[in-house]
Amino acid sequence: MLQQLKDAITSRLPELDLVLGWEMGFDPFHATPLYIREAADVERLVVGPWAVHNLATYLPGLKGKKVGIVVKGCDSRSVIQLANEGLIRREDVTVFGLCCDGVVSHRKLREKLPADLGFVEEAQWQADVLRARVAGQEVSVRLSDVLADKCIACCYPNALGADVLVGSERTASPQPVACQESFEALSSAEKQAFWQETMARCIRCYACRNACPMCVCRDHCIATSRDPLWLGQENSPAENFMFQMIHVMHLAGRCTECGECERACPVDIPLLLLRRHMNRVTQDLFAYEAGTTVGQTPPLLTFQVEEAGINERGW
Ligand code: SF4
Ligand code: SF4
Ligand code: SF4
Repeated sequence: MLQQLKDAITSRLPELDLVLGWEMGFDPFHATPLYIREAADVERLVVGPWAVHNLATYLPGLKGKKVGIVVKGCDSRSVIQLANEGLIRREDVTVFGLCCDGVVSHRKLREKLPADLGFVEEAQWQADVLRARVAGQEVSVRLSDVLADKCIACCYPNALGADVLVGSERTASPQPVACQESFEALSSAEKQAFWQETMARCIRCYACRNACPMCVCRDHCIATSRDPLWLGQENSPAENFMFQMIHVMHLAGRCTECGECERACPVDIPLLLLRRHMNRVTQDLFAYEAGTTVGQTPPLLTFQVEEAGINERGW
């Protein structure tokens, strides 16, 4: 698959300003984003379980350039959604899509290793088994045991709307995510109590917002740019929850469930519980799933006097 991808990028590169992909990063367990500008850069490209970043996050900032992007299935939804909202020009973007076998959750991986990720000396995948030397000890871990939750529930492993699709197409076999099911089973009061306790950990670093491909306001974010400020510097569950509500409501009907917010969180706040919950509500009300259909307008960017899924006067 990697060679097929490299060949496809090499043949399209002359007509593009750059191509976004991944390369191996600062240690054997992390890939980092790669900007490919010339043919020699293509050799640094990697794909596979470490290629976790959703590179679509960079696309709005590159508007006006001819950009290629390598996407997994989940990332491809963000490209479609950005184009559907006019935040990028689809004709300026060349999408190199992958048929994806899933990516690792570094949080799950940390739990399987005898020492911190900083002590990893060597690591390589053999089929779906990771063999590593960590602090002098040999370790082997199965990919299925450290797969990101979003991959367990994945409905779209093959990139949607790609100009070039690379790899062998996979059949989706989504499984329910246990923590989501337990969360949904809570009453409203219990959900509220859960978030009050969980949000006490938030350090309001805004990494979840900055990593999100659909959070495009950047320096004009309502959470930080109003005068007087809507949020103070106080680090309390109430202020943190207010920020999350702003984020979640701005993502209602737009979140593509790429999981970047949760991955970026330094204190492991399970943000996808809230995102998936809101997506279920949007699906129930509007029969709409973000980033799955080219040319579709998000329900909250349209107005109808009567919505078919909302019985406004029925209470
Ligand atoms: S959610 Fe699906 S497409 Fe995205 S990384 Fe996981 S398996 Fe791949
Ligand atoms: S809110 Fe999280 S899961 Fe949704 S699009 Fe943004 S980063 Fe991805
Ligand atoms: S990334 Fe985590 S700690 Fe940072 S603002 Fe978001 S929820 Fe809070």
